[in-house]
Amino acid sequence: MRVDVISLFPDFIAQCAAFGVTGRAVERGLMSLHGWNPRDHAQGNYRRVDDRPFGGGPGMVMLIDPLRSALSAARAADPRPVRTIYLSPQGAPLTQAKVHELAGRERLLLLCGRYEGIDERLIAAEVDEELSIGDYVLSGGELAAAVVVDAVARLQEGALNDAESAVQDSFEDGFLDCPHYTRPVSHELGSVPEVLMSGNHGDIARWRRQQSLVRTMQRRPDLFDEHALSKSDRKLLEQ
Ligand code: SAM
Repeated sequence: MRVDVISLFPDFIAQCAAFGVTGRAVERGLMSLHGWNPRDHAQGNYRRVDDRPFGGGPGMVMLIDPLRSALSAARAADPRPVRTIYLSPQGAPLTQAKVHELAGRERLLLLCGRYEGIDERLIAAEVDEELSIGDYVLSGGELAAAVVVDAVARLQEGALNDAESAVQDSFEDGFLDCPHYTRPVSHELGSVPEVLMSGNHGDIARWRRQQSLVRTMQRRPDLFDEHALSKSDRKLLEQ
């Protein structure tokens, strides 16, 4: 898939391609990342990209034209249909289900705001959807775009060395992941649960499922509202 990012700091986004799973996805040709700086599309000696808000008040607002021109250059760079997403604290919350939907697309165009945000008319005319990475305010959309890129990259087939690991992650089946342990078996901080050393795959799977459900109950009971429990899950929770 191809991801284009409109940002005043395109180098920030380029860093995503330098590390870890996203780096591997890019290296393996599963994802390509392209930054577009609206300043390169701004007019005049000062290449202005912002101006004071109408009605007064603090801060600056990003101008329509440099963003519009950067968006159309990015769209024209590849003929495949593209979904334009504005990263915004006012957007719908980013969820794993949304990440799966985005990961299945051929192209994404991510728009990062700065200052007080973007002139509302550009959002209305050019943006397909707004996504938020949480109920807090960042100083720019780049970190949020990096979150989308990372979450989507790890779902590209071949990006993870063990594809099974993504299937077991939190939220994949609606609930939180179970706890994980590695060597040594005994440590001053505690021992590894015996069942994990039993070699009994059925018992291990049951224990993991139970832990996943208990954790979800303790930490994110709201997830049970969206995902109904099966009869066997209910039994595990009651044990
Ligand atoms: N005035 C805006 C508001 O209160 O809704 C906040 C602007 S914020 C300082 C600047 C930019 O950061 C936004 O245009 C957006 O692109 C990005 N941003 C901030 N918080 C975000 C969040 N929680 N999720 C996604 N993007 C965010």
